[in-house]
Amino acid sequence: MGILEVKDVNKRFGGLQALGNVNLSVEENSCHAIIGPNGAGKSTLLNCLVGKLIPDTGSVMFDGQSVLGRKPYEINQMGISRVFQTPEIFGDLSVLENMMIPIFARRDGAFRMHAVESTSTEKAILEQAEHMLDSLNMADKRHMHSASMSRGDKRRLEIGMCLAQNPRLLLLDEPTAGMARADTNNTIDLLKQIKDERDITIAIIEHDMHVVFSLAERITVLAQGTPLVEDTPEKIKGHPKVREAYLGE
Ligand code: ADP
Ligand code: MG
Repeated sequence: MGILEVKDVNKRFGGLQALGNVNLSVEENSCHAIIGPNGAGKSTLLNCLVGKLIPDTGSVMFDGQSVLGRKPYEINQMGISRVFQTPEIFGDLSVLENMMIPIFARRDGAFRMHAVESTSTEKAILEQAEHMLDSLNMADKRHMHSASMSRGDKRRLEIGMCLAQNPRLLLLDEPTAGMARADTNNTIDLLKQIKDERDITIAIIEHDMHVVFSLAERITVLAQGTPLVEDTPEKIKGHPKVREAYLGE
């Protein structure tokens, strides 16, 4: 049994069947990529995992518990954190201030029991935020205005803000979309570092095959809302339908 088990999930938008009988099993501590052409239903599937959408039928289990019917913040507290397609940081705040927010709001409630005004609490949050920025190699940017950072650095900060919640499952929807090659490679390196350093499961939706083949241990190909094939990167690379659809053969 995987840490995430999706069974027979269907989702319609009016007359459009966005997801049809989707089954997906994501093994704990693995990196699982979901690929597929535009409109295949990748983001819809992800939205069903985090409570933004509710499937019409089927089940979604995380660590043996159903996520269906739970609110996004409740699912987040279960240990699922999601990186959006466009970076969601507070542009008016500094990098350090952004990093303090998820630490304060952590699902283990570490700081919620104490008064916000308490200087020792504030100091502990600040220390953890600085430590997190250190591990992201962003310490030198901590007083920067977040809006003025490069796309790659915004993404790095956003991934770090998700990690600061100590998730067990990190979901990413096209994290390198619109990035220059150097930023894409930095993001790959960051995700590799996260895999090496933490007990964490990663599910990533990605268009860029270089990213997918650099990170994923399993790949599910979604086409028109239904899984076409699921296998290792080596097998997927050799799959005729995938070669036709993705590698232009
Ligand atoms: P992908 O992320 O793989 O590009 P999506 O999951 O965004 O695909 O979309 C799958 C299909 O569902 C597309 O045809 C899209 O237009 C449609 N769709 C997605 N969200 C909605 C919505 N909220 N209302 C109506 N149709 C939607
Ligand atoms: Mg999408």
